[in-house]
Amino acid sequence: MLERNPVLKVTDLSAGYGDIGVLFDVSLTAWEGSVTALFGSNGAGKTTLMSAITGLIRTSTGRIELNDADISDKSAHARSTAGVALVQENKRVFRKRTVHENLILGGYRLKRSERPTSLEAAYERFPILRDKSNAKAGSLSGGQQQMLAIAQALMPGPKVLLLDEPSAGLAPIIVNELLQSIVRMKAEGMAVVLVEQLVGKALSVADHVVALQHGRVVIDADAAEVDDEKLRAAYLGARDDSAV
Ligand code: ATP
Repeated sequence: MLERNPVLKVTDLSAGYGDIGVLFDVSLTAWEGSVTALFGSNGAGKTTLMSAITGLIRTSTGRIELNDADISDKSAHARSTAGVALVQENKRVFRKRTVHENLILGGYRLKRSERPTSLEAAYERFPILRDKSNAKAGSLSGGQQQMLAIAQALMPGPKVLLLDEPSAGLAPIIVNELLQSIVRMKAEGMAVVLVEQLVGKALSVADHVVALQHGRVVIDADAAEVDDEKLRAAYLGARDDSAV
């Protein structure tokens, strides 16, 4: 694997809800210009890990570093400002706002003078959003709303993008379009953590693979070293997308 700079480094993280432990000593790294695919069956703890990284839930132990700075004790807002962005599964955009307004809201922290460049980048990334810039977000298709959610998260120029099941409920052609956009993000140097049930699709863009089972890491390897079947066998519930 090419030598790349680690952007997000999670070390020995444990977290849960109340007294219930969900994640146990989980470590994961996301590198500049690469995709770390995070796999695991339903309930393995993938979304919980995203929430812990973004500060939406508290962690009991462990360390989270962004570009070598410890952000473990920072609030969710401070982590976002530092450059951690999350697109939650089935995240809702502001349906009654236009596409343009949604993007402006995504980049609310930007200086007014910085907005046009970020907006232009969003429209270049997903040209359909430019065509629909004055349409209410609620009138967009599911795939277009997912593109808007991603574009919104990218508005402030994050350092790492966490994508929680971006393909959920979308048609295969849209899934392929989203994967292409992830490939482009890599080329731009973005560090991406991709949670995905479509194993084959995710592996096609992944550089590194982490798999969770019952909240513990069972695979942590370069994507090139991960055998598709071995990965499927490592946990139950992965969907076979070979026909997609
Ligand atoms: P999925 O693929 O279904 O989204 P996941 O790997 O993302 O699964 P999590 O959603 O992180 O898994 O759930 C891990 C465990 O934590 C599950 O047992 C789940 O029931 C539990 N859990 C998730 N959210 C909460 C919550 N808000 N309160 C209590 N328990 C929760």
